[in-house]
Amino acid sequence: MNFHIITIFPEAFDSYLKESILGRAIESKHISVKFYNPRGFVKAPKNNYKPIDDKPYGGGPGMVMRAEPILKAVEKSISKIKNKKSKILIINFIPSAEKFTTSIAKNISKKYTDIILICGRYEGIDARVDKILRQAQDKSLKFERFSIGDYVLTGGELPAMVLLDSVSRQIPGVLGKFESLEEERVSSSEVYTRPEVLEHSFGFAHDKKINGKIKKYKVPKVLLSGNHKLIDEWKKNTK
Ligand code: SAM
Repeated sequence: MNFHIITIFPEAFDSYLKESILGRAIESKHISVKFYNPRGFVKAPKNNYKPIDDKPYGGGPGMVMRAEPILKAVEKSISKIKNKKSKILIINFIPSAEKFTTSIAKNISKKYTDIILICGRYEGIDARVDKILRQAQDKSLKFERFSIGDYVLTGGELPAMVLLDSVSRQIPGVLGKFESLEEERVSSSEVYTRPEVLEHSFGFAHDKKINGKIKKYKVPKVLLSGNHKLIDEWKKNTK
C-alpha cells in the first residue's frame, strides 16, 4: 500500500513513522509514504510571497487554502503512481464528514493500492477541490471525505496519520504474528499485567500520599481462572 500525503507540514510525520510497527512496515516495504508539499506548486512568486492561502470570500476570520496548489500536488502524486493496475483513493479530511471507522479501514486496505491524503489547514481548503476531485472519479480513482471525530483540530496531519496507521495494520504482514493473533481474538479495553496485586499509594511531590495509606489493587479473579470461556465472556463485557 502506498500513501501519498499532501501537506504543508511534512516534517510533522517524521518521528511517528520511524517508530515501532509503522517504521518496520516501511522498512519491509509493506507500506510506502511519500509527501507532496503544495507550497512547491505555487506559481513563481512576484515578491517572494508564496500565497498558499488567501482571505475567504464572504468574509470571516482565518484564511482558506487555495485550490490550485492542492490540485497540482494531487496531480503530481497521481503522475508518480506508475502502475496502471493501481486503484487510487483520494481522501480529504473534513470535521463534519462521515466518521472514519475500523470497518472503513479494512475496506480501504482490501480495495486500494494507493491512498492520497489531503491535509487541510487554517479554515480549510477551497471547496472547489472536492468538487473537482469528485468529478474526476472513474474506475481506478475514487474520492472520499472523512472525519476522525467530533472535534476540530488545527490541521489534517493528525487525521492523515490516524488513517494511515489504522489502514496499515489491516495489511497482511504489517502486524507481527503475535499482534495479528491478538486482533482476531476477543479483546477488552481493560487489560492487566504483573503484579497480580499492585500495592501503591498515589501522591505528588507536594502532597506525598493522598490517604497516607498503601492500597492494594487486584487483577480481576476471572483472568487468573484459566477458564477461557469465562475470560472471553468477561472480555466481551468489558469492551
Ligand atoms: N473551518 C473548518 C470547519 O469548520 O469544518 C475547520 C478547519 S480545521 C481548523 C483545519 C483542517 O483540519 C480541516 O481542513 C481538516 O483537514 C482538519 N481537521 C480538523 N478537525 C478534523 C477532524 N475532526 N477530522 C478530520 N479532519 C479534521
